[in-house]
Amino acid sequence: MSHEDSHKDHAEEHKHSHGHPHPQQPDSEDEPYSHEQVMATALEELLSDKGLIAAGDMSSALDYWASKTPADGARLVARCWTDPAFAKRVGENVNTAAAELDMDIGTTPVVAITNTPDLHNVLVCTLCSCYPIGLLGESPGWYKSRAYRSRVVSEPRVVLAEFGTHISDETEVRVHDSTADLRYIVIPMRPESTEDLREEELAELVTRDCMIGTTVAEGPEQ
Ligand code: FE
Repeated sequence: MSHEDSHKDHAEEHKHSHGHPHPQQPDSEDEPYSHEQVMATALEELLSDKGLIAAGDMSSALDYWASKTPADGARLVARCWTDPAFAKRVGENVNTAAAELDMDIGTTPVVAITNTPDLHNVLVCTLCSCYPIGLLGESPGWYKSRAYRSRVVSEPRVVLAEFGTHISDETEVRVHDSTADLRYIVIPMRPESTEDLREEELAELVTRDCMIGTTVAEGPEQ
């Protein structure tokens, strides 16, 4: 370290020692690059050098996917509840069915799994954090946590109970492991006493977590 540098460090230190402790604020910019970051940056540079992507394509794509919310998934579920023919098409191909509702959910195949009185479905990605971002937006922090990923597979009913979801012993609980090539969405059961609700009102009952399967859809007064 040169004298210059050590002097700068000292000045930096001095700036922060003014009588009260500061919370540690981890600055990811100061962390060494991870293997994935190095690979991603190299790939981006390569694509850019070959003229396959323009500067800014990457960040605008990231912004686009970051703008997604569970509202699209909720709209799809509500349509399934009100239109059995649409529900059937969702069962065959979620990606093309979503396009009918003018949703762009990307090209990764999404498979819909429908809850019934006999079967409750719940999603996980045991390896990392694969998730139907196109329909549900960013995944919640707990979805990516090691605790959820490992425990929901071995003791799904216990984990569901921690979400306040109690599944009857007569109902089978099935856990679906998402991958980079295949994502899932849970079609929850339509709550009782919602016959009079319009499709938009039904969509408001469809939460992110009930499309992951950690909760169930509740009626308006439940
Ligand atoms: Fe994953």
